[in-house]
Amino acid sequence: MAKIFCVANQKGGVGKTTTTVNLAAGLAKVGQRVLMVDLDPQGNATMGSGVDKRQLAHTVYDVLLESATVAEARTKSERLAEAGCSYDILGANRDLAGAEVELVEVERRETRLKDALAAVRDEYDFILIDCPPALSLLTLNGLCAAHGVIVPMQCEYFALEGLSDLVNTIKQVHANLNKDLEIIGLLRVMFDPRITLQQQVSDQLKAHFGDKVFNTVIPRNVRLAEAPSYGLPGVAFDPSARGSQSFVEFANEMVERLGTMRHPAAAAAQQP
Ligand code: ADP
Ligand code: MG
Repeated sequence: MAKIFCVANQKGGVGKTTTTVNLAAGLAKVGQRVLMVDLDPQGNATMGSGVDKRQLAHTVYDVLLESATVAEARTKSERLAEAGCSYDILGANRDLAGAEVELVEVERRETRLKDALAAVRDEYDFILIDCPPALSLLTLNGLCAAHGVIVPMQCEYFALEGLSDLVNTIKQVHANLNKDLEIIGLLRVMFDPRITLQQQVSDQLKAHFGDKVFNTVIPRNVRLAEAPSYGLPGVAFDPSARGSQSFVEFANEMVERLGTMRHPAAAAAQQP
């Protein structure tokens, strides 16, 4: 049975999509069965996984509006398979922007994704959801479907401030809609150890959040930034790049953490 993780942070450009596709590729590389769900109308995670968002017969939009099942809408990328890190993709494109409005009218509007994923959970070890940069109804669907949230963040001055909105939203979802939900961890991304401020913020994060901060640190690495223009995650595009190696390390850390996630009650007690 898959564990389901949301990659969320309401800020744009903090590395959510990069984290989602590279973690998916890293997990696939170490033998895990993975479904990646793109929940952002920009469709960057779809394109970054080698799937043309304009060519999709069905997307996560159809799944949310129940005109297609996940099994009907998911797809694969040949290029990922060639690179030895194949995962399934439930893609998104601009259609999804309309779902935000259309969902308001329907019943079970927060749990559409959760309900749809239930049918395929036993086919995967991990389901990763790339969230849009807002605490919207789409993100809420992600949070309701998930067991855990992975929060990528840059170690900048305002990083902690932005975090409190997200933490509050997660607490509310945990209290009202999804008792399984917990923050699995904060992932330091685009890290440059030469910048003193980043080192300081990183230390603050550890002091505040303790073992909720992942051990793995993702460095700023140009190969990770170049990979999307080739329609691949960095892990598949250039496995030897430092950034790619750090995502495989992160995949291994996630596999380890799964072992400590078996007891939802104990996990809930650790909410930050
Ligand atoms: P989000 O999904 O949160 O909007 P992205 O993953 O799209 O953020 O990242 C924003 C930009 O930063 C992209 O251009 C991406 O290629 C770049 N980027 C992300 N992570 C790294 C990294 N570790 N090193 C260098 N560039 C990165
Ligand atoms: Mg994104």
